[in-house]
Order: sequence, then C-alpha cells, then structure tokens
Amino acid sequence: MADGARAEQRQPRIEQRIAARRERVHVLTGAVCNNNCIFCMEEDREGRRVTNSATTDETVQWILEHNPGVEEVCFTSGEPTTNPALPRWIKRTRAAGVPVISVMTNGRALSYERYTAGLVAAGLNRVYVSIHGHEAKLHEGLTRTPGSFAQTVAGIEQVARLRRYGVALHTSTVVTNRNLPHLAPIYRFLRGLGVDQVVFNVMQANGRANTYFEQIFPRYRDIAATFSSFVEEQSRSEPRPMAFLVDIPLCTTGEVPDFNRGYVERYVHFEPARASVPIEPGPVTTLPGLPAGDGLVQLRRADLDEAARLKRDACASCRYDDVCEGVWGNYVRRHGWDEFTPVGRAAT
Ligand code: SF4
Repeated sequence: MADGARAEQRQPRIEQRIAARRERVHVLTGAVCNNNCIFCMEEDREGRRVTNSATTDETVQWILEHNPGVEEVCFTSGEPTTNPALPRWIKRTRAAGVPVISVMTNGRALSYERYTAGLVAAGLNRVYVSIHGHEAKLHEGLTRTPGSFAQTVAGIEQVARLRRYGVALHTSTVVTNRNLPHLAPIYRFLRGLGVDQVVFNVMQANGRANTYFEQIFPRYRDIAATFSSFVEEQSRSEPRPMAFLVDIPLCTTGEVPDFNRGYVERYVHFEPARASVPIEPGPVTTLPGLPAGDGLVQLRRADLDEAARLKRDACASCRYDDVCEGVWGNYVRRHGWDEFTPVGRAAT
C-alpha cells in the first residue's frame, strides 16, 4: 500500500471529522466593509452596520466570561479591521486564555506592517484572508474594488512573515463561474506566498449570490469535477495538496480525495436582542446579562441557514444525512435534485 493511501486510512473520514468538530465563537466586529463583493452574503449593509456597531467592550467581555473553555474566538463580519477596538478585543481574548484567536478579513489593512505586527503582539494567532483570484483583474472583478488585490496580497505577505511567531495563515476563495477555471493557478499563487491552507468555499445561495445566481453560481457537479482534476494534477508534485473544498453537499464530491473535503466550522455568535435588524429565521436563545435591557441573542449557523436549506425524503438513506446541512433551496428551485444522489451507508 502506498504511503499516501496509508495516511488516508489513518485520517478520520469526512463525516467523522464533521461530527467531531468543535464550536467556534464569532464576535461581530466590523460595522462596514471596504470591499463590495458581488457574492456577499451580507446584502443588507445597513442592517449589518446597526447590528455590528452594537458590539462593545462589555459585549466582548460578556462573551468571554460566558464561553469558558472555548477553543477559538474569531473576529468577523463586515471587515473587522475597520474597527479600532480590534487590537484591544484581541488582547482581552488572550487574557481570557483562549488558545486560538482569529480574524476573518479581506486582508487589506494587514498590508500595514505595524498594524499587523500589533495584532499579533496582542494575541492574534490565526488569520483567514478572503482572496478570489491570482490576478488583479479576476479578484477585483469579484470584489468590485479597484486596488484591493495589491493590498490583499501585501496583507498576506505581511502575515506570512509573522508565521514564525506561530500565526497560522489560511485563505478563503469563494468559487464562482469566473474563478472556477483557475483553481490551480490560484492555489499555486497562494502557496507561493506562504499560505498554510487554501480553502475554496462554494458560494452560499443567499444574499447577493442569489441575486446574481444566473451569472456567477456554478453547478455543484462542475465544481466537484474541476476541483477533483486540480487535486489529482497537483498531487503529482505535492503528495497532499493543502487545498480544501467546503460548503458543498458531500453527495456531489465523492470523486474528491477525502483529505481535501473540508467543512465549515460550527459557530455561535451573539447579537443584541434589541437590534433593530429583524433576525431571519428564528429560533434564538435570549441571554440576559449585559447592562440593563441589553440582552444578547445567541445564534448558531444552523439557526441562520436551516430554513434556507432543504433535504428530500431520499436523504434519510444517505450515509451523510446526520452531518449534512442540506441543499440551498435557491439552488434546488433552479436546478432540481438530479445532482444529489444519496450515498449508500455501506459504501467505504
Ligand atoms: S443527505 Fe441528501 S443532500 Fe445531503 S449529502 Fe446526502 S443526498 Fe446529498
């Protein structure tokens, strides 16, 4: 048996990895974003500004005190680096003993050396940078923000220089019709910059991605086939490409090596109960405890997505049923169920 095949056998399979994943706490940090991505999930920018502006020092303290033992706190939503409180909140999180402190960012502000070094000195030790192409034309056609590519690349380079201090560098590339043909050059470009893990996120058929669905949303079967070919080709020069495909129903990715099938972390975030933004859909748990009248609601990814994703009766026979979140209703309504065939439970 080849070494690669033995290693493959030792790793828990994708459904086991998903079942064992831990919950990450998200802190809503950026009231605004300085990119304008065509597929942005957060279409309601004013709603996000109102909700995320409500995160204060007290909110962060409350979250840290009420989530003892959490493994990762991630500062996210909007563009977290636009919030001047970010270094302070990272410092508090480190003081609370959280092992992994991360930020999800477009990386542009990280191009400033002193700023990035300051975040790392405060305790930041994992960075997820969104980048959607290996060239300015491709990336900026999707971010619709001139100049964003050079800054994001410079941000990645700054973080790469700090990896020796224990900072993990991951990227997130949202897969669209435009960049799907370029997975290999995108991967090689990012690995060449020093990225540890290159994640290809399939679009979520919500927000702007639904508005522009016909223009930019690839078929799942095409994504799986293209990714699979890319991994196969890359494996000839790199035994285990550090590329991961996430947010795609597992029944469509059977041809992808199990190692390269990724998953989205479970997460929970908190937002003010009195936020003027309607929360769609429920259910939520109200958590009192902040200054009078400022209770928080706790929202999990499943709370936000469940009503928008569907399964059909046949899914009950699928080996992935327990860990599968279903298929976006907005996708099924356009393309039907033909791509989604339950995978036999006895299959290996
Ligand atoms: S449960 Fe249904 S949608 Fe999910 S992987 Fe299985 S067949 Fe696909």
